Amino acid sequence: MSNGNSKPSFSSNQSDVLTDNNNQCQKRIGIFGGTFNPIHMGHLIMAEEVFKQRHLSKIVFIPTYIPPHKHVNDLAEAHHRHQMIKAAISDKSEFEVSDLEIMREGKSYTIDTIQEILNHYGKESEIFLIMGADSLNELELWKNIKKLSQLCHFVIVNRPGFKTEASPRLVEIIGKVSLLDMESLRIEITPVDISSTNIRKRLNGGVGIKDLVPECVEAYIKEHGLYSST
Ligand code: ATP
Repeated sequence: MSNGNSKPSFSSNQSDVLTDNNNQCQKRIGIFGGTFNPIHMGHLIMAEEVFKQRHLSKIVFIPTYIPPHKHVNDLAEAHHRHQMIKAAISDKSEFEVSDLEIMREGKSYTIDTIQEILNHYGKESEIFLIMGADSLNELELWKNIKKLSQLCHFVIVNRPGFKTEASPRLVEIIGKVSLLDMESLRIEITPVDISSTNIRKRLNGGVGIKDLVPECVEAYIKEHGLYSST
């Protein structure tokens, strides 16, 4: 996919959003990384809530090329996952998708992605890293997590079955200041019990996924024969 020369793209529904770094509207940038295998309503609902409740300027969805912290058997090709995000957010001007990690190929670590984002948007931008409570539970294992906690804010969203409190180990690593920051930014949404794993299982078993993903994503999956063993 990467030819080594091209620059990562941020495909947006707004025009020229990246060219004007002095624009006040650009200062609070939400970064939403994940496997998005596939993107589902849970992702979209949480992104909308974070956008509204934390008064962000925009949210950039960044699909990972290979997830560093989980093993997935039925991982759709990165370009498909990217295309599905693009379709799902096409009517939302506050959202965009970036192929930054896909272009990098291999495993991407969030610390490297955030450094690149800061270079791209300028150091005056505030970065809000959005994640569900299950990711919070793994945060202590992430590369350079202390440094990461100093470069961006963590926005934790509740998810059924997962605690929204940081583990003692995580608090020890990131320190009280980052913990307080994280707690003050925590978002409570009406719990959404949807996961990509469940969607893949349903598809594999021939069960419908209506209302779990946007219609355009369902159509894309069908058209490209994704996640089905038949
Ligand atoms: P899988 O089931 O394949 O592990 P997933 O549904 O967790 O996938 P990811 O793309 O891995 O989806 O998730 C990206 C981010 O979105 C993660 O931080 C995850 O915690 C969060 N997230 C996904 N679904 C939900 C949900 N229903 N509620 C809250 N957070 C969610």
